[in-house]
Amino acid sequence: MTPVEALERVVHCLDRAHDTGFKAKAFVRALDVAKAVLPEELAERATAGTLTDLDGIGDSSAKVIQQALAGGDVAYLADLEQKTQVPLTEAGAVYRQALKGDLHMHSRWSDGSATIEAMARNAMAIGHEYMVLTDHSPRLTVAHGLSPERLAQQVEDVALLNERLAPFRILTGIEVDILEDGTLDHGDDVLSQLDLVIASVHSKLRMEGKQMTERMVRAIANPHVDVLGHCTGRMIGKRDPSSFDPDYVFAACAHFHTAVEINCRPERLDPPRPLLKIAVDYGCWFSIDSDAHSTGQLEWQPHGCNRAAEVGVPLDRVINTFTADRLLAWTRAEF
Ligand SMILES: [Zn+2]
Ligand SMILES: [Zn+2]
Repeated sequence: MTPVEALERVVHCLDRAHDTGFKAKAFVRALDVAKAVLPEELAERATAGTLTDLDGIGDSSAKVIQQALAGGDVAYLADLEQKTQVPLTEAGAVYRQALKGDLHMHSRWSDGSATIEAMARNAMAIGHEYMVLTDHSPRLTVAHGLSPERLAQQVEDVALLNERLAPFRILTGIEVDILEDGTLDHGDDVLSQLDLVIASVHSKLRMEGKQMTERMVRAIANPHVDVLGHCTGRMIGKRDPSSFDPDYVFAACAHFHTAVEINCRPERLDPPRPLLKIAVDYGCWFSIDSDAHSTGQLEWQPHGCNRAAEVGVPLDRVINTFTADRLLAWTRAEF
């Protein structure tokens, strides 16, 4: 393991533990510094004990670099590998084992921190057969949402990557914004080219309930939309769920075959349990998605699996237990 690989893995582990504190930031910085310095210089400094003279390398990151260079166990990392495992209940494990892919994630093309290839390699490493790349759409300017031109370029890049990564498959997709009137911020011409479309509300979350219901139902009924992303938009402890009529929304999801996403981000865990129960009662389809913005976050699916088990989501209604071919047949079917 090279020092850069060791630091990358430390960042990955802290990320899967949702550690966003000082320590995690310091390791991200140390990784940047280690990448910018020639390997020879790192080795010389490790021998001379001058790693910490580099701005951004502290005692902990210096130790990781030294141990990686020594070729033995990196003690700090070994400890972290144990401590940062994402908790999975026995019942949740049944769901996790059944998942063949992840339908929601972001790369550096929008607001993610990793390349598409790094996301793919990590998805493979945790046992997936495929993933759907769903960067943001143009309306989310803060997240560098993809214009039709950039999206077309991304689709070309994905085709090349797929040749190298086979049999693993990267399916093309997008997380489109549900605009205030329920229309989407990409046209039919763009959406029809993609393997899978997630539609999510990211703005005007405080809209009056009746209006929000109409807005969501309109998007759910759009034939290009396959998955309804993080339906309430809540941020646990920071932002209340938006209000809508769950009977209309989940009846529409069931009727139009739009899967209800079980979003696994620890700060979202969306939908909340009572709403998830209602969706189950309506016979909806589901997807259990990480919504990862980094490689470590791809390991968040257990959060949603635990919940799915708790609420009794039927396993055969979870569309990312399908093979890639079956998933594509499902997204393309006219219901
Ligand atoms: Zn989103
Ligand atoms: Zn997302």
